[in-house]
This record gives sequence, structure tokens and C-alpha cells, in this order.
Amino acid sequence: MKQFHYHEPKTVEEACLMMAELGDNAKLIAGGTDLVVQMNRGAKAPSHVVSVKTIQGLDSIIENEEGFRIGAATLLADISDHKGMQSKLPMLCSAARSIGSAQVRNLSTVGGNICNAAPSADMAPGLLALNAIVTIAGHENLRTLPLEEFFVGPGIVNLEKGEILTEIFVPTPTSGTQQVYLKHGPRRAMDCAVVGVAVTLLFEQPTGRCQQARIALGAVGPTPLRAKMTEKLLVGKTFNEFPLDRIAELAAQEASPISDVRASADYRCEMVSTFTKRAIVQLASFA
Ligand SMILES: Cc1cc2nc3c(=O)[nH]c(=O)nc-3n(C[C@H](O)[C@H](O)[C@H](O)COP(=O)(O)OP(=O)(O)OC[C@H]3O[C@@H](n4cnc5c(N)ncnc54)[C@H](O)[C@@H]3O)c2cc1C
Repeated sequence: MKQFHYHEPKTVEEACLMMAELGDNAKLIAGGTDLVVQMNRGAKAPSHVVSVKTIQGLDSIIENEEGFRIGAATLLADISDHKGMQSKLPMLCSAARSIGSAQVRNLSTVGGNICNAAPSADMAPGLLALNAIVTIAGHENLRTLPLEEFFVGPGIVNLEKGEILTEIFVPTPTSGTQQVYLKHGPRRAMDCAVVGVAVTLLFEQPTGRCQQARIALGAVGPTPLRAKMTEKLLVGKTFNEFPLDRIAELAAQEASPISDVRASADYRCEMVSTFTKRAIVQLASFA
């Protein structure tokens, strides 16, 4: 690995200034479970590495009536174990728990997972289906945008030079919203998703009609994505009226996977169909 200078800023302002001044020679590091692997392989060779873990206040989860403000440097282990999130955002806890091993989750962060921008990032589908909003700090400004607009392409996110992700806000789902994240991979542990499907459904009572549906897919396109046409097929219908075969077919059409060493594009499409249907059937038992 190429030698580099290591920096430990204490505040967001200091980190942004450092990143702006160091420019393309610098990379931010959180847990390093993606970055250090890439540096070892020689895929990335920064001259400066700037830690976000030394920035105070970036590793906490703050819950209020509106939702959860999750600091970008929050460990995946802390998300998986957070009582408030287990009760209101269980899909995110199980997504975090599905990542790597206990050792990996004790090092790696939610910000690193989404900023690395792997299409298979396990935190992304759940956050997309929950309409998460990201906060980005720059040297002179602060901006927010829907997570959907943060993903630009494989390995590319909507961050300008000198900007860092500071927070992910997840609105509290409407009471009664059901949610699930299903991950498919060849192994049960220590494996990236070949397909990830996150679904949230809200059924109106007492009619049992679907009031709100959100479906997000991982590892089946250049970025994690929402299957918005499929969502429309569910809204206004009761579970018995769901056209499950059409839903499965359309979800696969909304995906645009590639074939790689881990799975072929055709197999991934099949799995999108199977897992989307499975997730909906699982949640509909609560309708
Ligand atoms: C053995 C092993 C198993 C794994 N299994 C899985 C798995 O099952 N599912 C999965 O999704 N991933 C998996 N991963 C990948 C990795 O652990 C996760 O993506 C993790 O969440 C990355 O977080 P990190 O804090 O280590 O990021 P880092 O490696 O520190 O950073 C990743 C990228 O994000 C950037 N970055 C980090 N924080 C910020 C910030 N606040 N603002 C802007 N940019 C930032 C860095 O510059 C870098 O480009 C695995 C990795 C290993 C080594």
C-alpha cells in the first residue's frame, strides 16, 4: 500500500476545510472496511487520509417524534442494537445485522456504507424505502437532499470537493407501517447481497386497502433504486387484489442488473421477482 498522511480533525468544519485544501489527493475514512481493502488492492491510493471518526457528535442516533437523526459515523453494530430503531425501523436493524461479521459491524459505519456507493450496499434499500434524507456539510454551506438523489453511479455519490456526509435522517414511519429487508446471497454470512429487496407497506383500517407502498432494490442496477411502477400496482388494493405475478414481473423489469462473478443478470432478475413477492406476502399477513 502506498504511504499516506493520516489526519484526525475534531470538527466538521475542520474536516471540510482539510478536504477542500487537500483536494483529489485526500480520501475520508470511517471504519476503513471498504477503503482500506481498496487501498490494499491499489484501486485507491490517496496521499492523505482524513478520519471522520474523530469528529465529535457524528456517531450518535437521536430519536424524536419526527424521526431518527443518525450520525454518518454511527457504527452498524450500534444501529443493529438500537432499541428505538428496533421498534420503529426494524428493517434497518436487520439490514445492519446482515453486514459482514461482528468485527466488521464494530468498525464500519452507515455513512461509509452509503458513501462507498456499492450497488449492493445493504443499508441502502431500507433507507431508500424509508425516504431517508441526507445532510451534507461543505466548507461554507450545509445542504440536504433525498437519499435517492445522493446515489449517482457505482462508487459515485453526490458530494462535491470538500463535502462530507454528516447525517442521515429517517422519518418515523406512519403508525402501522410494515417493513422488511430481504437479502439474497450465496452464503448466509459474510457475503454481499446478490439481490436486496426492502419493502414498506401501510394498510388502511378497517378496509385493508394498501395506502402506501415503497419498494427499493439493491445490487440490481448501477445504484440502489426504487421500483416506483411496481409500488403503484399495490396502492388502493387489498392484499387479495394484489396482482402478485404482475408485481413480480414488473419489479424485475424495473431492475437493470449486470452479470458478474457473483450472479448473472437473468438470475438477479428472477431473484428480484421472487424476493419482491416474498416480502409483500410476508408483510401482507399484517394487513
Ligand atoms: C469482510 C467484509 C464483509 C463485508 N460485508 C458486507 C455486507 O454484507 N454488506 C455490505 O453492504 N457491505 C459489506 N462490507 C463492506 C463494508 O463493511 C461496508 O460497506 C461498511 O459499511 C463501510 O463502512 P466504513 O465505515 O468501513 O467505510 P470506509 O471504508 O471508511 O469508507 C467507505 C467510503 O465512504 C467514504 N466515506 C466514509 N464516511 C464518509 C462520510 N461521512 N462522508 C463522505 N464520505 C465518506 C470513504 O471515503 C470511502 O470512499 C464488507 C466488508 C468486509 C471487509
